[in-house]
Amino acid sequence: MSLIVQKYGGSSVGDIERMENVARKAIASRDAGHQVVVVVSAMKGETDRLTDLAHRASHTADPRPRELDLLLSTGETVSISLLTMVLERMGAPARCYTGAQVRILTDSAFSKARIQDIDAEIIREDLSAGRIVIVAGFQGVDENGSITTLGRGGSDTTAVALAAALEADECQIYTDVDGVYTTDPRVVPTARRLEKVTFEEMLELASLGSKVLQIRAVEFAGKYQVPLRVLSSFEEGPGTLITMEGDNMSQGSMEEPLIAGIAFNRDEAKLTMIGVPDTPGIAARILGPIAEANIEVDMIVQNISNDGLTDFTFTVNKSEYQRGLDTLRELAGDLGAREVYGDTSIVKLSLVGVGMRSHAGVASKMFDALAAEGINIQMISTSEIKISVVVDEKYLELGTRALHRAFDLDDRSGQTVSVEGESAG
Ligand code: ADP
Ligand code: ASP
Ligand code: MG
Repeated sequence: MSLIVQKYGGSSVGDIERMENVARKAIASRDAGHQVVVVVSAMKGETDRLTDLAHRASHTADPRPRELDLLLSTGETVSISLLTMVLERMGAPARCYTGAQVRILTDSAFSKARIQDIDAEIIREDLSAGRIVIVAGFQGVDENGSITTLGRGGSDTTAVALAAALEADECQIYTDVDGVYTTDPRVVPTARRLEKVTFEEMLELASLGSKVLQIRAVEFAGKYQVPLRVLSSFEEGPGTLITMEGDNMSQGSMEEPLIAGIAFNRDEAKLTMIGVPDTPGIAARILGPIAEANIEVDMIVQNISNDGLTDFTFTVNKSEYQRGLDTLRELAGDLGAREVYGDTSIVKLSLVGVGMRSHAGVASKMFDALAAEGINIQMISTSEIKISVVVDEKYLELGTRALHRAFDLDDRSGQTVSVEGESAG
């Protein structure tokens, strides 16, 4: 008998009718002879609604992290309770658990807690007794008994971690699209579903902004070798399998694709110090205080010097932009900088593909495609399997579509995918 962990996102459990759909799918898997563990997110829009309430309750101050996590965790608790009631009504024995009840033990980093351990025994007993087990996504408990959450999109990680702990045969992520696409189909309607994508590529796509899977879920799946598949809650189909590298390489006539997909990230902002002395140690003197302020830096560019002066630019998450700007302004006098400048209207576009390793010319083709649309590139960074550029945010759609076309990623079947409104849980 095989064991399957299924995760359903916010839009898949958006109302009772949709929960009935989830229940039918779980029952069908059970009837096909599998043991089934279901992980659910909060009902669509609920985590946003709770976040908004917390900010209104706290006025200008940030809500206290411990209390905020407790509040946000309730969204998933509502879902598991309702889904279990629906399953029982349909005649399927089921039992639900919060993260704390199955001891999803995490560290105490509220709002971005990491899973350290899971006690799978309780779940195994229920499965042996023929029950479908429902577990709340996104939440855990720390060693002091405080409820923690795993970061936005964290139910994916709960599902993969449970699959690893239970040594499941497959972890299935059900969502509102029928797989991983060459890019977000909301932005490029001609995007194509991928049959397979390697863990390495999926990790890059997730870390560069594709929110279809939370990055930690992909990390976990890679580390514990959990077979992972992304599927639609609403349509039948094979979805997309996340594979170990090599599985989707050329076998016979199938050629390895050069580019797996395009990701974009609207959550970054750019900070620049203009006219700093081009002397050894200047980068450390700028980025040291930024690190001390606990601000994470992504891309960094230092220009060639002109008259012994240089410009230094880097990107940070938008939520840390103001603190970053204030830190630079404080530093400017000491460093003798001419000006400090910030820009929040940027977007990072990234091409990802393991095929880049063995092909030259990907970067120049990318830059040509953007230039042909009159899109100015502000920053560039590359690694072995990705190239990222920062451009003005107004070019997000134009740039992504141009790259999608230039790298021949468009779906030629004439079908376009239908996706509904925003689906955050
Ligand atoms: P859920 O609530 O089920 O967890 P999410 O909203 O977190 O769903 O993730 C699904 C969404 O991810 C899709 O609706 C789509 O807009 C977005 N997305 C971004 N990039 C991609 C991609 N490359 N392939 C598929 N979906 C993507
Ligand atoms: N409900 C949480 C969120 O909206 C977790 C999840 O949906 O994965 O981010
Ligand atoms: Mg999600």
